[in-house]
Amino acid sequence: MKYFVLDRGDSLSRSLTGQFHALAASRGMQLSEDEPDVVLSIGGDGTMLHAFHVFKERLDSIAFVGIHTGHLGFFADWKADEIERLANLMAESGSRLQDKIVKYPLVKIELTTSFGVETFLALNEFTLKGADATLVAQLNINDSPFEMFRGDGICISTPSGSTAYNKSLGGALIHPSLEAIQIAEIASINNRVYRTIGSSLILPKHHHCDIVPKKEQKVVLTVDHLAVPHTSVLNVRSMVAERKVSFARYRPFPFWNRVREAFVGDDVK
Ligand code: NAP
Ligand code: MN
Repeated sequence: MKYFVLDRGDSLSRSLTGQFHALAASRGMQLSEDEPDVVLSIGGDGTMLHAFHVFKERLDSIAFVGIHTGHLGFFADWKADEIERLANLMAESGSRLQDKIVKYPLVKIELTTSFGVETFLALNEFTLKGADATLVAQLNINDSPFEMFRGDGICISTPSGSTAYNKSLGGALIHPSLEAIQIAEIASINNRVYRTIGSSLILPKHHHCDIVPKKEQKVVLTVDHLAVPHTSVLNVRSMVAERKVSFARYRPFPFWNRVREAFVGDDVK
């Protein structure tokens, strides 16, 4: 069993990384930056996003696990004081790791600019926003015109990303066993002249959505926590990716329980 650890860089997360290396060594696990079987992220959900992008070329052979050192996260669902238990479970499951894996869908983006086509994968979402003015973009679904969007931007999220930015936009929470993407509006303009659907749209696998910004607009494309400004976006196509991300579930923690613990809490009567 080969593992790697990425942490948020704060003192608690760094000290847990040190503790984990010691626990792993005494249980016969090997540290490997190039070919880990399991990547442990210590920090928050943002740390998991970072880990995902570091290892996105090797998704088929890696399972991720997250420990949180702040608040409970969606990807980071182990507590700091459970680190020894986690190390034991990791060492025990060794070659039977496949039995512990759950796979979540991702969103794939094909960005066409005047320089060519680039592909990105996102774990949470991508957004296209106007950089310094309203985003004006034609939205097509499965090659048919759907609407002319005017507003701050458009967010297209995965089911596991539905609890992140998408939730703040009033989007639905989607169970990650559903292979779908969700299109949510960011402050659309709706009046007698401009009209958008207003509701979030949930597209199944094999459907695709194209966002065609008005010519030569300054836009910002975000992919999870990463943002890139562009002036030459011709089209952004999004769809459910063929590849999935694997998480090692050494103990069950159902999605709806995580939703409840993160957003409702135990104090409600
Ligand atoms: P951040 O500003 O720390 O993230 C914002 C919050 O989203 C943090 O509390 C983060 O948790 C949480 N989060 C991340 N992924 C989540 C998920 N799948 N489900 C539920 N909560 C989640 O920045 P960051 O840590 O680099 O994360 C980037 C993400 O921030 C983006 O992918 C986007 O989803 C989100 N975001 C949200 C808004 C908004 O809600 N208005 C605006 C911009 C970006 P941690 O504190 O554990 O990291
Ligand atoms: Mn964060």
